[in-house]
Amino acid sequence: MAEFPTVHDLADSSQERVLQTWAGLGYYSRARNLHRAAQLLASLPEWPQTAEGWQELPGVGPYTAAAISSICFGARVPALDGNAFRVYSRLFAYTDPVDRPAAHRFFHVEALLLLDPQRPGDSNQAIMDLGSNICTPTQPNCEACPLQSFCEAHRRGIPTELPIKTPKKAALSMDLPLYVTLHQGHVAMVQRPGSGIWAGLWCFPETPVEGIPYHLGLRTVHLLSHRKLHIDFLEAEMDIRAILPEGLHWIAVKDIAHKGIPVPVRWWLKEKNYI
Ligand code: SF4
Repeated sequence: MAEFPTVHDLADSSQERVLQTWAGLGYYSRARNLHRAAQLLASLPEWPQTAEGWQELPGVGPYTAAAISSICFGARVPALDGNAFRVYSRLFAYTDPVDRPAAHRFFHVEALLLLDPQRPGDSNQAIMDLGSNICTPTQPNCEACPLQSFCEAHRRGIPTELPIKTPKKAALSMDLPLYVTLHQGHVAMVQRPGSGIWAGLWCFPETPVEGIPYHLGLRTVHLLSHRKLHIDFLEAEMDIRAILPEGLHWIAVKDIAHKGIPVPVRWWLKEKNYI
């Protein structure tokens, strides 16, 4: 808020500056989406008021769209986040996995019927609060719950058995070499392409600079949502400043932490006491 007090401030800034401000927080796609969404909003004569309208913005899914449109504009649409799914799965004793499309349809219809038509935003926030304070994942406080007399899971004595989730698939393992070419306090880095892993961030390249002997330095494992990266940092300290291939740039090591960089690069900088 200090850096970009209004949507227009955010829209007018460069992506580079947005990523720099976001540096260290991870989930950089959120920063990029926020920036693109701000640019779209800034170009509209008036902001959307419906959930469908908000969902057209990058990074805004059904939950965020429903929350914004119901809380800010009184749209009658249920906001279903993880808390709400837990509360409703218990309220209706829903014993199928809640992460399937059929469950989403079911909860949308049922939650819509329960939404206060006069105060849909408050209604949605009440369910969010109930889920985070009373109907908690492992220790639901049913005695303090205002919904207890309607709750099927409570009646059956099964609140902690719900919600049911589909077991997650194991993350796919992948080897990723990163080549760290150093020369007098500078390191060769590349800005990654605009799509794929760590899109738009500054990173060590995945291919060596030709003719340079590297040795295995640090190793780490980094988890992405569907991938497990086994990262080898292959390091070389040069006496002579090599001419870098196109796309690679010498960057002062002390400046790297201020750029948008992936978590493993930040980890490497910490391990080497650069930050
Ligand atoms: Fe959750 Fe218990 Fe309330 Fe049911 S009665 S909604 S299980 S806290």
